[in-house]
Amino acid sequence: MTSRESRDLDPADWSEFRRLAHAALDEVITHVQSIREKPVWQRAPDATRQRFEQPLPLGPRDLSDVLADVRTHVAPFATGNLHPRFMGWAHGAGTPTGMVAEMIAAGLNMNCGGRDHIGIDVERQIVRWMSEAFGYSEGASGLFLTGSSMANFLAVIVAKMNAIGVQTREAGLRRADAQLTAYTSAEAHSCIAQAMQLAGIGSEHLRKIETDSSGRMQPDILKAAIRADRAAGFLPFLVVATAGTVNTGAIDPLPDIARIAREDDLWFHVDGAIGALSVFSEPLKHLTAGIELSHSIALDFHKWGHVPYDAGFLLVKDGAAHKRAFASTAAYLQRSDRGLAAGETWPCDLGPDLSRGFRALKTWMTFETLGSDRIGDAILHTCELAGYLAERVRESAIFELKAPVALNIVCFGVKGASGGVNRNLVLDLHELGIAAPSWTTINGVDAIRCAIFNHRTTRSDLDLFMDAISDLAKRA
Ligand SMILES: *Cc1c(COP(=O)(O)O)cnc(C)c1O
Repeated sequence: MTSRESRDLDPADWSEFRRLAHAALDEVITHVQSIREKPVWQRAPDATRQRFEQPLPLGPRDLSDVLADVRTHVAPFATGNLHPRFMGWAHGAGTPTGMVAEMIAAGLNMNCGGRDHIGIDVERQIVRWMSEAFGYSEGASGLFLTGSSMANFLAVIVAKMNAIGVQTREAGLRRADAQLTAYTSAEAHSCIAQAMQLAGIGSEHLRKIETDSSGRMQPDILKAAIRADRAAGFLPFLVVATAGTVNTGAIDPLPDIARIAREDDLWFHVDGAIGALSVFSEPLKHLTAGIELSHSIALDFHKWGHVPYDAGFLLVKDGAAHKRAFASTAAYLQRSDRGLAAGETWPCDLGPDLSRGFRALKTWMTFETLGSDRIGDAILHTCELAGYLAERVRESAIFELKAPVALNIVCFGVKGASGGVNRNLVLDLHELGIAAPSWTTINGVDAIRCAIFNHRTTRSDLDLFMDAISDLAKRA
């Protein structure tokens, strides 16, 4: 036993705790403020990794010592996505406000699965804002999830229940009259196929519709595939369009897909993980026209919205259909007409999570402090930067574009190169800490992929990146 009198887990000396906590906050603010001076990424050395192979500590250590470990062994080896020359995958950069919000949310430590407290209202505020932004009506519902992978999965579940009835929650798919089939494009994110697997329908029953040369789903091929499946006795139930593909940022023709979904009685879901938030930019808004015709939308505030990880979101137009797919009548989830258990619909009625953090606060604080115009402008700026980078590639004697630039994603590579040359250039840049693009495969050839999400990126960052990668390519 320790010599402490109290058996609670609070600090013994609050004023010492306050001093350390303030210093830690100062330090992380400095980290964000001076991010440009640091390498984009560096691999954690073996000694650092070994620090996290220790046995479970039985006794206490001073917070100051633990914070020193964080300073030495954690902070320098982060993902790198705060840095203006991080252009890999599809990562948001965060904001200092979001960081403070996370701290407050952790302090309040709300459980936002349900019950009558203000966290639920804050989340509903975001649902209302998003309903308005995407042209959904009053009855829409929504909830925060880890990311769009989960949001897309939940959309598949809601669409499935809508097609074959809620009795299949108990009876399972074997009682369904026909084999369900769903449709998405060949460029859709892999989480759509996984959602079909998790939903028990099977990814074999997801038809991957061919895309045009810009990476967009071809509506006539979609229509023909649905027809052929119906003729063969399948039950087409869902089409998933992508607003911003992960490879190139392509946006499927949403109005055409909406029309086909209506004609063929399919649930129309939009994976807007990347592109949905572009509605906040007036000049970009037209790109996602037709999104208001969808039945549901998945999006990520942690990507272009720069809310700190994680902040995925699902919006469903028909809130009642959404609730039917998940609500449960367990005794410990009973509602009351007053007290802490009041409220008709709780977030736990809209998804499988019961214990949930307060993701809504950091999202609300981000929109409140910046305003949607400024978020939209940062989104527009990254698209303009992508245009600038594409221009530099076109002017280059070494590189060529590998795909059209739709939004903020530029795919390019060494002219005529093969055999992983582009991938190696990317990995060299990572290890030098200069920039962090990613790589992908487009029409069977490897390409350097720059996804410019970061609100801190400038033209001079792109110049520095292009100069560095050109030097490396010349030396290779
Ligand atoms: C990132 C992404 C996903 C997955 O979202 P997570 O938030 O990473 O789970 C799905 N679809 C697209 C188009 C994406 O870009």
